[in-house]
This record gives sequence, C-alpha cells and structure tokens, in this order.
Amino acid sequence: MSDSNSKTPTGSTMSTGAPAPSDRNSLTIGANGPIMLHDVHFLEQMAHFNREKVPERQPHAKGAGAFGVFETTEDVSAYTKAALFQKGSQTEMLARFSTVAGEMGSPDTWRDVRGFSLKFYTDEGNYDLVGNNTPIFFVRDPMKFPHFIRSQKRLPDSGLRDNHMQWDFWTNNPESAHQVTYLMGPRGLPRTWRHMNGYGSHTFMWVNAAGERFWVKYHFHTEQGMEFFNNAEAADMAGIDADYHRRDLFEAIARGEYPSWIMSVQVMPYADAATYRFNPFDLTKIWSHKDYPLIKVGKMTLTRNPVNFFAEIEQAAFSPGNTVPGIGLSPDKMLLGRAFAYNDAQRNRIGTNFHQLPVNRPKVPVNTYMFDGQMTYEHSGNAPVYAPNSSDRSWADSTGKMEDGWEADGDMVRSAYELHSEDDDFGQPGTLVREVFNDEERTKLVDQVAGSLLGGVRSPVLERAFEYWRNIDAEVGRRIEEKVRAHSAPEPVPGMGES
Ligand code: NDP
Repeated sequence: MSDSNSKTPTGSTMSTGAPAPSDRNSLTIGANGPIMLHDVHFLEQMAHFNREKVPERQPHAKGAGAFGVFETTEDVSAYTKAALFQKGSQTEMLARFSTVAGEMGSPDTWRDVRGFSLKFYTDEGNYDLVGNNTPIFFVRDPMKFPHFIRSQKRLPDSGLRDNHMQWDFWTNNPESAHQVTYLMGPRGLPRTWRHMNGYGSHTFMWVNAAGERFWVKYHFHTEQGMEFFNNAEAADMAGIDADYHRRDLFEAIARGEYPSWIMSVQVMPYADAATYRFNPFDLTKIWSHKDYPLIKVGKMTLTRNPVNFFAEIEQAAFSPGNTVPGIGLSPDKMLLGRAFAYNDAQRNRIGTNFHQLPVNRPKVPVNTYMFDGQMTYEHSGNAPVYAPNSSDRSWADSTGKMEDGWEADGDMVRSAYELHSEDDDFGQPGTLVREVFNDEERTKLVDQVAGSLLGGVRSPVLERAFEYWRNIDAEVGRRIEEKVRAHSAPEPVPGMGES
C-alpha cells in the first residue's frame, strides 16, 4: 500500500489511551513476512471490528432520526400535570422514523407502515411515545405480534418476502382489515418522513394536578403537508436510492429546513370508556373525530442531525412503557405487551445498561436500584444496594391506589376484548373506504390490492381475501375480485404488492 498521498499523521491511540503504533501497517517479520500474534493493536482492532454491529431491530430495523424540540403552545393543564405539556414548556427530543418489515438495508420506499418514535428528555425523566404513521394497527392482542411480524418478513425456505404469507395472516386475523385498508390506501406510501403524519396509535392516560384521569390519543400533523408516492415512483426510487427517506431528512435539516408537526390530542373523559360505541382500548379502532375532536397541544420541530448515526440513532432505545408523572398507560393489551417488550429488545440488542448511553440517558438525576450488568458506567459508589436501608439513600414507597391506574377484577381468562355496541372488524375500514376515500382513491385501492393478490396468493387464501374485502365494502370487494380474475396469467409482484 502506498503511503505517499496521505497527510501527515498526528497519531491515534489504542482503546487504553496509549499511543497506537500504526493504523496502516501491521507488525510483520520483514516487509513480506508473517503477521505477529503480539501485534496487540491489530488484534484489538480486528476483534472489535468483528463485534461492531449489534443485532438489528426486529422489527423496524431500517430507519433514521434527528433531534429537536417540543414546545407546548396551549394550556392543557386541565387534562395533564405532565411538566412537558404545560404551556410554554420547551423539551429537547429525539425522533426516529422507520419501515416495519424491511431489514437494515431495505429500501425506504416499499409500501409499509412507518414507525414514528419520539423520546422527550423531560424535567421529570424521559417520556417515549412510540407510534406509527397510522392511527391503528393490524392486531389487538400482543400474543399475535411475533406471528404477525414473521408473516410480513421472509419465507423459511427461500428467504423471500411473500404476498401469500401476508394475506394468509391478514385474512386469518380480520381485525387487521382497518390497518390493511389504510396501508393499501393513498397514505400507504409517504413521499418522505417529513410529509407524513404521526399517531401515538394506542390509548394513553393523562392525569391532571387534581388527580382526574382522562384517556387520550395523540396526533401529529405534518406542517410540510402530506405527500405520497404512487407505486411506480416508489418502485423507481427503491432502485435509485434505497435510503431516500433517510437522505431526505438528513439533507433537509442540514439545509436548515426544519420539519415540524403540530401535536393534538383527543381526550375522552375517564368514565366514557365503559360505554363508548367502540372499545376505546382496541388498537385496531380509532375514536371518531366527531365524538372526540382534536385539541391542540403544541409543536415538534426537528433541528439537529445526529453527528454519529450508530451512537445516536442505532443505539437509541424507545419504549412506550417509559412514562412520566401525569401520563400513564391504559388497558390496551398491545400497549401493555409493548411496555415490557421494547426495553427487553434493547437489553438484547445493545446490552443490559443501554439506558446509560448518552442518547438514552435522562437529563435528570437517576437513583435506581438496578445494579451492575454488562458495561455498567453509571453507578452509586458504595451506597447500599438494597432497600429499605439504614443509610441516607432514599427509596420509593408509594402504596395504595395508583394515580394512573384503573379498575380491574374478574377471573383470569384468555379471551378477546368484550365488544362495545358498534364493535366489529369491518365497520371502521368500511367507513374509511366509503366516507373518507374519494372515487380516485377507491380505484387506486382496488388496483393496489388486486396487484398484491396477483403476486402469488393461492387458494384458499385468495378466496378468503375476496371475502375480506367484500366484508369491508361490497363494491370494492367485487371490483377487486373482478380485476384479479380478469388476469389469466398472473405475474409475480415483488414486495408488498408494488407493481
Ligand atoms: P372524520 O371524517 O372526522 O375523520 C376522518 C379522518 O380521516 C380525517 O380527519 C383525516 O384525519 C383522515 N383521513 C383523511 N383522508 C384520509 C385518507 N385518504 N386515508 C386515511 N385517512 C384519511 O371521521 P372519523 O374520525 O369518524 O373517522 C372515519 C375514518 O377515518 C376512520 O374509520 C378511520 O379509518 C379514518 N381516520 C380517522 C382518524 C381519527 O383519529 N378519527 C385518523 C385517521 C383516519 P388525519 O388527517 O388526522 O389523519
């Protein structure tokens, strides 16, 4: 290797801080001789290199993000005492956007739901809101989640994505109909992350200073305006620039074009949940805006790119279980399942003490009784490691009714949710198709679904898919079946029905 074109080196160090001998030449016996086993610098470099990737997220592997600020512009203190949502409060934050099914290197523009994960570094600890660009989800019981994700990923034998497998799962789980309709509809292919909305999707609890409880849903409306790709544009872009969404966000912020979203909430009085026409904790349902109109809260603006993607984005750890005083969870079973699974995923990916990394560390002091483990950095010196203790190290001791709790009793069962008066799997997607989509959007929906069904979906899943769509909307279902049957020689369609 020629050394002639390089600038004068000023030196580097080994991980110990001692001067490194060379970052270009290994230690050999003579210029052409074998490498020495005691070239510690070389061996340390190679050993670390072998370990420099961490397991990718399962799912939501492909993504990127940026830092910014959330400003509460309105007075919503009637609903929550959370410090970050008090009027005038400004909170540093991190956002990460992603696709769901694709792996780390997969194209950003495949049709898929997008992750919309937020971390607020509040004065009361970190608050994470880990949502999507859709207000609903495919399933409502977390027991189904690993099955769902595997069905959207790859076949065991060929390692290929597979429409048949996707539709087999969806049609066997009709509660997916709302999310599938949304995904196959005009909002299923965002042009950029900057041009899509975000939703907390789940129902959460807010508690005000007087201890009153409310159920809330979060909505983030893009101030850039919503823009979408059509299938042809998205397929082209997948080939031209698989990192298009990542690049767009990074370059926009680098140019000083800071994307922003207005955050609003729907607020449901606590007691309404029992009688609302839809089960308000069912993640496959929305609350109608007509029943619970949007209430503006504030604005999120992304202003700063990461300086190191791995340290600040790949190692960023979000969990919907990370709440702060004034915000709680709800009986939404998916939310309760995620409240465990997300932090556990990071323990597996990054390590036991992932919360100590700068990107995940709260800006408030931490006094935790979680001890030791791999890569412990923060510690409590020689203070007692148990509670209660007789020294001056404090410990937590709340008892009695939790301010962000709810009532639950009854037998332990394995069961679907109890239905509310208007609960079914097909009603809300039917409303979306008939009352929200226009004629052109309905036609594109028919084309999109028919294209996807042509890509290797076989009997009996194909017939079930026709019935699934007839249940959503008789006319749309009829048109989809007609279009699929009209194709005598179906061509395979890659990805999630791109054509
Ligand atoms: P509304 O007519 O009050 O609201 C419909 C909402 O749908 C709009 O406010 C908009 O919300 C969203 N929307 C508009 N165009 C599209 C589109 N092409 N694809 C997806 N969503 C769109 O009725 P309801 O609140 O009673 O909801 C009716 C249906 O609208 C629901 O069944 C659901 O499928 C869908 N929807 C409802 C939302 C809600 O939170 N109520 C949110 C999103 C969709 P926005 O711009 O805020 O997303």
